[in-house]
Amino acid sequence: MSIRCVCFDLDDTLWDCSSVITHAEQQLYQWIATHQPAIGQRYTAETLLASRVSYTQQHTELHHDLGELRRHWLSALADEAALTTDWVDDAFQHFLKARNEVKFFPDVLTQLHLLKQDYRLGSITNGNADIVSVGLDGLFDFSHNSAAAGVSKPEPAIFTQTLEMTGLEPHQMVYVGDDLEKDIIGANRVGLRTIWYNPSRRALSNGASPDAIMASFAELTHLVRSL
Ligand SMILES: [Mg+2]
Repeated sequence: MSIRCVCFDLDDTLWDCSSVITHAEQQLYQWIATHQPAIGQRYTAETLLASRVSYTQQHTELHHDLGELRRHWLSALADEAALTTDWVDDAFQHFLKARNEVKFFPDVLTQLHLLKQDYRLGSITNGNADIVSVGLDGLFDFSHNSAAAGVSKPEPAIFTQTLEMTGLEPHQMVYVGDDLEKDIIGANRVGLRTIWYNPSRRALSNGASPDAIMASFAELTHLVRSL
């Protein structure tokens, strides 16, 4: 058995991301409307979201650090309304709390507990979910993210940094993710084995060649042992 570690993508692999972000954006709007009414009066929930999307599109230099990008955007909203920025961190923390209130896909926790008996577990994410806040710190031995790495998946560096952090060789780690480009092609490129989580049974594309494909988490432990 050469595999010693199973490493996971987080958003859309262990939980649905869009419903979490939608809820967190609503929570943020309510916080702003209550605590910074000058901004709340300038925006509806919808136009505030459009402002954040537009800011994100204009600031590609911060795409590896979505938390920093969101804080910059909140500061820009303060400037626009001629406000101080001393509330920005409180608003961001309010968003972050809601952003980490995730609902795991079926069988995820059962499979993680099973795998934990034989493998080291960890995560690499391009987002700002936090394994302590989502309740995975007891199961995961390590986590890495694009903000700390300075680059996002599929860049090789974020994977090789994780190997260095854990002291593992590429053939000892299997990477599990939903995104063919960022997760599967990215991890394959540095020599990791990969399992593509593909619940909607999409076709393979872009030359990706995962070592295994799973439609549900119930298959995971079996697939890892078969690699
Ligand atoms: Mg994902």
